[in-house]
Amino acid sequence: MNTGVNFVKDVKKQKPSTSVTAPKVRNGIKVLVIEDEKALVDALVYNLDRDGYEVMVAHDGQDGLRKAQEIPDIILLDIMLPGINGVEILRELRSNEKTKAIPVIVVSAKSEETDQVVGFSLGADDYVTKPFSVKVLLQRIKALQRRSELPVEEVAGELIVHKQVKVDMARHRAFVQEEELDLTPTEFRLLECLLRSPGRAFSRQHLMDSAIGEGAIVLERTIDVHIKTLRKKLGSMDMIETVRGLGYRFKE
Ligand code: CA
Repeated sequence: MNTGVNFVKDVKKQKPSTSVTAPKVRNGIKVLVIEDEKALVDALVYNLDRDGYEVMVAHDGQDGLRKAQEIPDIILLDIMLPGINGVEILRELRSNEKTKAIPVIVVSAKSEETDQVVGFSLGADDYVTKPFSVKVLLQRIKALQRRSELPVEEVAGELIVHKQVKVDMARHRAFVQEEELDLTPTEFRLLECLLRSPGRAFSRQHLMDSAIGEGAIVLERTIDVHIKTLRKKLGSMDMIETVRGLGYRFKE
């Protein structure tokens, strides 16, 4: 039944004896891999485990949603899955109070720009196109992990307020005229970045680095999609201005 576990054993047999006996440093980070391609799951489990991650595996959509209830630190989500597909899973995760803040990296064979845009508009935090190198994916996981941890530790208790918009860093909540906004993690970081320096024009690259993560290989217009959904959520208090040929700023 649980092929993920059997697999770990199989792969360990192939490892040289030195690395089997070497003490493994666990990093305490739990990664949920929702993926039906066995060879890819095998490679991910092996590499994540070796890097100290605790790995959970779900081979279909239903199992993925169930395991997401255990609140992993990061979810790697395939789009083409048997049962519930990745797009529906993402929507479900983002609409559920318990799971909506979990960082999600969408892993998909679909390389079309539109698919990337759809993934981000549904609240994915990063997007990796198959085929990819496991090493690159591990870097992206680390980058995502770092930026989901940093704000809370660095600026605990901080409140960023401008006009009628408020970002509460400690509680990781955002408000417009005291009404709470339902933001994706990326939208939250975008708003935080813009709100910290009202009037300052930010390039798309800068916004991508702070909201999606340095080194993320995404299209520049991905940021436009996040901004678009953020503006919609800000409603009448949308004070984000487009800076032609550069990017965006929050009105002073
Ligand atoms: Ca698949």
